[in-house]
Amino acid sequence: MKKAKDILNTTNIVRGIFALAIILIIVAVVLAFTHRKGGSILHDGTPDDNRHIVVVNSGDTLSKILTENGFTNAQVLEIAQVLKSDANLTSLRADNDKIEFVRSDADAPVSKIVIIPSPWRQIEITGTDDGWKCQTVEIQPERRAVYRAGEILDGDSFYLAGARAGIPDGILAEVYDLLAFEMDFERDVRAGQHFSVLYEENFANGQKVDNGNVLAVQFEALRGNVKMYRFKKADGKTGYYDENGNGAIKSLKRTPINNAKVTSSFSTSRKHPVLGYTRAHKGVDFRASTGTPIPAAGAGRVVARGYNNGHGNYIKLRHNSSFETLYAHMSRFAKGVVVGTTVKQGQTIGYVGSTGLSTGPHLHYEIIKDGKHVNPMTVKLPAISNLGKEDKEKFLEYRKTLDAGIEHLSQHPDWFIQL
Ligand SMILES: [Zn+2]
Repeated sequence: MKKAKDILNTTNIVRGIFALAIILIIVAVVLAFTHRKGGSILHDGTPDDNRHIVVVNSGDTLSKILTENGFTNAQVLEIAQVLKSDANLTSLRADNDKIEFVRSDADAPVSKIVIIPSPWRQIEITGTDDGWKCQTVEIQPERRAVYRAGEILDGDSFYLAGARAGIPDGILAEVYDLLAFEMDFERDVRAGQHFSVLYEENFANGQKVDNGNVLAVQFEALRGNVKMYRFKKADGKTGYYDENGNGAIKSLKRTPINNAKVTSSFSTSRKHPVLGYTRAHKGVDFRASTGTPIPAAGAGRVVARGYNNGHGNYIKLRHNSSFETLYAHMSRFAKGVVVGTTVKQGQTIGYVGSTGLSTGPHLHYEIIKDGKHVNPMTVKLPAISNLGKEDKEKFLEYRKTLDAGIEHLSQHPDWFIQL
């Protein structure tokens, strides 16, 4: 009996997911072949002849632009005051903001001014019998999920392969940051591996404005397929989770500096490049040029900052009751980072250098677990947050739907999912 019920439930879920996937695909197909026209900023039916758009240039001020468009000094003052009190706007950004002047007919005085300080916000100032009134309108972006997939070729870096796959720089950097929690880019990346990214593009009036969030990442790493999904919990907080719903964001990073080559790995015995004799290498060396910022691998507190012959300038952070990290050979420390300072994950604590026993600029990075040095590339790192029972069930369902969507997009990379 129990079994039959289970089967029934599973079938329903599968049916539901299938239906949703079909809907997503239909929407995607329809939209892929619909080309919308970009046009005026406003949609209130005013003919284009009665509008006049001014792009703010460097040196322009609101009063200058208003005066040039026929406003009196008193009107300029009143509008400036309304903007300050009702929209918290005191200045215009050169080469960025747009101002639209609207008239009821071509010869009439301006009845409405629209300031567009960002694609997602516009401020409308309307002339009324009681003077100028101001209203802020938030614009919801139209979101699409797009899919890009690539392959690592011989001699490739993930960045090169990602750019070739058409993944925009900002998205690629985010993907790298995410994967860095799980992968060692030096040792896990090989020619022939495939990867894919699902991310948002934001549109306003049918025109692409910018990219949004990374929704899903997949990488066929040497140690196994790494998958991460962005998911919003019931409490409204978003995070990244692996396919089983475990937190993908770890409390520590294996590679604090992005895209830095590993020049020496963790080992219990290696010939020291300066000392010449064999001894353990208790960390990992990343090659980077002098002055490269060193981000904290995780949130924590500075427990040591100083100089010794081996490490040169170094900082040690304590992250929780069991984990500490150490960063050596720094050229200098970041301003204000002293013993006792609390740091966030990713916050710059110092800069790459070659102080102490070092043959050239690099970061020597150690992870210490319960007082013992461990291999940063292989140690199991604690996740920041895992999902509760209800969130986890929702996540698993969402993940299956998203996977189905990704599967379709992988067959039709020019399609997208309307969100
Ligand atoms: Zn080292």
